[in-house]
Amino acid sequence: LVVLDDVNKHFGSLHVLRDINLTISRGEVLVVIGPSGGGKSTLCRAINRLETIDSGTITFDGQPLPKEGRALAQLRSEVGMVFQSFNLFAHKTILENVTLGPIKVRGTGKAQADRRGMELLERVGIGAQAAKYPAQLSGGQQQRVAIARALAMDPKMILFDEPTSALDPEMVQEVLDVMIGLARDGMTMMVVTHEMGFARRAANRVVFMADGQIVEENTPDQFFTNARTDRAKDFLSKIL
Ligand code: ATP
Ligand code: MG
Repeated sequence: LVVLDDVNKHFGSLHVLRDINLTISRGEVLVVIGPSGGGKSTLCRAINRLETIDSGTITFDGQPLPKEGRALAQLRSEVGMVFQSFNLFAHKTILENVTLGPIKVRGTGKAQADRRGMELLERVGIGAQAAKYPAQLSGGQQQRVAIARALAMDPKMILFDEPTSALDPEMVQEVLDVMIGLARDGMTMMVVTHEMGFARRAANRVVFMADGQIVEENTPDQFFTNARTDRAKDFLSKIL
């Protein structure tokens, strides 16, 4: 579904993505792990073109990423993104947060958008909160709204950038459970996370990224118990 071929990106003199080659297949769940500043967020943002790249190519669904206009808006609606900070609209209700995209971008009628929005809120376990405002929800609930909002666009893939790292510990699992459900349902996902339990249960592949490079690609079991590279072993010894 996504192919990155020799992708390079600099911020000034900082080389943040170095010759990245990566393929994400349909239905695959890829976990990206690695030290701070390694380029994980930049990699996510490059895939839905929130960042441009300096060289190399990225294709989505067989087409080079569009640069602008309608095609770019289309790409962004097909590649959902869930961030560490939930970025919900504070003065819109939970249901409105979920239906805004389909109504504005897709031209879906309000009644239909509401129906589907409610289904999605039920699916992530917060149907009862639909009429409330984001500030009235816990962090875990807000992040589940953000996931429902991404799903409302019927994305072909969802990028998750540290979706649980801003949450209180007791709320992490409820969000991971929703993500594990999506993975089981066949959603294509790229997930930046250090949650080993999630990686073990849901990931097909782990990519370890440091200093802008993919240092190691492995199965979750192999990666966490028997990493191949010293760089990955060293990192794991610090987080586990
Ligand atoms: P973290 O685990 O802390 O989220 P990361 O692996 O996601 O880190 P990135 O956010 O991709 O890392 O950042 C890679 C490098 O690029 C870092 O050194 C960061 O400071 C730098 N960087 C990121 N965004 C910008 C920007 N807009 N302008 C300049 N430098 C940037
Ligand atoms: Mg990051």
